[in-house]
Amino acid sequence: MDRPRFVIPASEVESMAEESNLSVLQFLPSLVNSAKRLARPPISHYHVGAVGLGSSGRVFLGVNLEFPNLPLHHSVHAEQFLLTNLSINAEPHLRYLAVSSAPCGHCRQFLQEIRNAPNINLLITSEPKSESDQFQPLSSFLSHRFGPDDLLAKDVPLLLEPHHNGLTFLSETQFPSCNGFSDGYEELRYAALEAANKSHAPYSRCPSGVALMDGEGKVYKGSYTESAAYNPSLGPVQAAIVAYVTGGDGGGYDKIVAAVLVEKEGAVVKQEDTARLLLKAISPKCGLKVFHCSSA
Ligand SMILES: [Zn+2]
Repeated sequence: MDRPRFVIPASEVESMAEESNLSVLQFLPSLVNSAKRLARPPISHYHVGAVGLGSSGRVFLGVNLEFPNLPLHHSVHAEQFLLTNLSINAEPHLRYLAVSSAPCGHCRQFLQEIRNAPNINLLITSEPKSESDQFQPLSSFLSHRFGPDDLLAKDVPLLLEPHHNGLTFLSETQFPSCNGFSDGYEELRYAALEAANKSHAPYSRCPSGVALMDGEGKVYKGSYTESAAYNPSLGPVQAAIVAYVTGGDGGGYDKIVAAVLVEKEGAVVKQEDTARLLLKAISPKCGLKVFHCSSA
C-alpha cells in the first residue's frame, strides 16, 4: 500500500512541473485536489486541501482534521496542519500557499505567526478561473492585521524559526518512582520534552509538547503553537496527530497506543485535561502520562 505523502522534495516538484510544461508556481495549485483526498473530516465531510511551497523549494500538504464526540474547537484546519507540517520538517519559511477554499478568519490569523506573513502569496483554487490564476499577498486577505508585532519584541522567534525553550524535567527522581513504565514511555518522555522545547508559546510562556507512539513503536512529536489572538492556537496533541497523519501509514487514530505530555509545573495555560479528553475520544485505549518541566 502506498503511504500518503505530505512532503515532496524540491527536485521532484521541479520535474513534475516540467513534465506538465508548467513552472512550479503554475503547477502548485494542481496538487490541491490530491491534498483534499487526504483530509479526515468525519463531521462536516467538507474536505480542505492546502499546498505550500517553502523557501527550500519543498512542497508541503495540509488537510483538515475533525474529531467526533468532541467540541468543534478541537478540529485542525488545513492551513494549521500545513504550518505544523512545515514546522515538523524544519522548513524555514512559507512562500506560496494554494488552498481549495478561502481560508477562514481563524487561519488568516494563524498564518500571522510567520515572520513577514503579509508577504506570503495565496491562491484559492475554488475561485472562478479569472481570479484563481494569480497568487496574491496575504495582506490583501487580512488587512489591518493584529499579530506578533503587537505583543512581542522584534527578536522573539516566530513560528518556523528555531526555538530553544530551555526546559528540563523538574525532577529526574520523579520518573523512576512511577511504576510499570516500559522503555517506550521513557523514549516518549524525552520526545515530548524535545517537542516542548520547540513549542511556540511566546504569549503565555507556557510551552508544551506531546509524543505519541503507535503499535509498531514509531514516535510522533507535536509542539504547542500559540497565536497572538489566542483562540487560533493549536494544542500539542493536535500537532502530534498532524505528525502521525503525515508520518504514519495512513491508519486510524486507534493505532496510537501511548502518549506523553510535557508541560511546565504550575503553568497558567495547561494542556493536561484537554489532552486527556482528545486522546480518549480518538483512541480510548491510549495511555497518557504527564511530566512537568521548568525553564532552565
Ligand atoms: Zn481555517
